[in-house]
Amino acid sequence: MENMIIGIDLGGTNLRIGAVNNKNNLIKPLVLKSECIASSPSPISTLCKLIEEYLCDTNITHIDAISIGVPSSVENDNATVICTTNIRNQSGEAVFSHVNIAENIKKHFHVPVFVNNDVNNLMLYDTLTHHLEDKKVLVGIYIGTGVGASVIINGDFLKGKNGAALDLGHIPYYGKKELCSCGKKGCCECYASGWRLQQIRKEYYPDSPISELFTLHKTEDPLLDFVSACANIYAIMATIFNPDALIIGGGIPEMKDFPKEQFEKEINASVGKDVLSYGFDVIYSTPFVGKGIIGAAIFARKMLLKS
Ligand SMILES: [Zn+2]
Repeated sequence: MENMIIGIDLGGTNLRIGAVNNKNNLIKPLVLKSECIASSPSPISTLCKLIEEYLCDTNITHIDAISIGVPSSVENDNATVICTTNIRNQSGEAVFSHVNIAENIKKHFHVPVFVNNDVNNLMLYDTLTHHLEDKKVLVGIYIGTGVGASVIINGDFLKGKNGAALDLGHIPYYGKKELCSCGKKGCCECYASGWRLQQIRKEYYPDSPISELFTLHKTEDPLLDFVSACANIYAIMATIFNPDALIIGGGIPEMKDFPKEQFEKEINASVGKDVLSYGFDVIYSTPFVGKGIIGAAIFARKMLLKS
């Protein structure tokens, strides 16, 4: 039980926790509802309690670090969560907004604590799984309930001045007017997200289960449009970054019968011609529920090596 890292993948719905050894094997993963953090009067203490219970239940006595992925941008200190738009408390406020969550957890457990955007952690897992570590430019876009993006340039994440870069879900789609959960109008997430797919189901296919939507209706206009809106965001990012590889992930592209052929055709039709002349690999993220936990552990080991 040496060299364990506790990885946590705090999502909009589920919180996944597990121990990861230095061969990146996931040991005893546990899935809880994120609700228990969201509804707590003291979310960080509740998180500490969960970690403590997990360590106790698994008889793990020594850990190297704790690493947490959150559905939010994270400041360049790898500790301060900028805003969890998709995890809100009962009053409707974002549970973590400009809050250093690493500090208090570190005080409690006396080990290094790292916080990272969840999509960056998924990207680390995918980079390792597909042996892309030596590539120059990698672009990953993960479409689930919302839209998350991660860019790795020469081995480092693109973070921006403060850490708020790549807020891709809220990039404006020109001329669009739909009201977004962030308060703006016409954001990407209003047209290309799980949230939008739910809306399409309600409006056009109330009798079809969400998991069957592509199987039953992928050749019909509402879903053709939806897939185009998703392809659009990949095409924009490929045009900006001229990547070695474009990584495609998240609940939507991982759905049964997602029309990969139409999707890739539309990406290629929209990408800037210069970038297209050099091409890029299209890689689908491997569907595996533990990848956010393992990704968090990979991030922690990278950070420990740097310190
Ligand atoms: Zn928005």
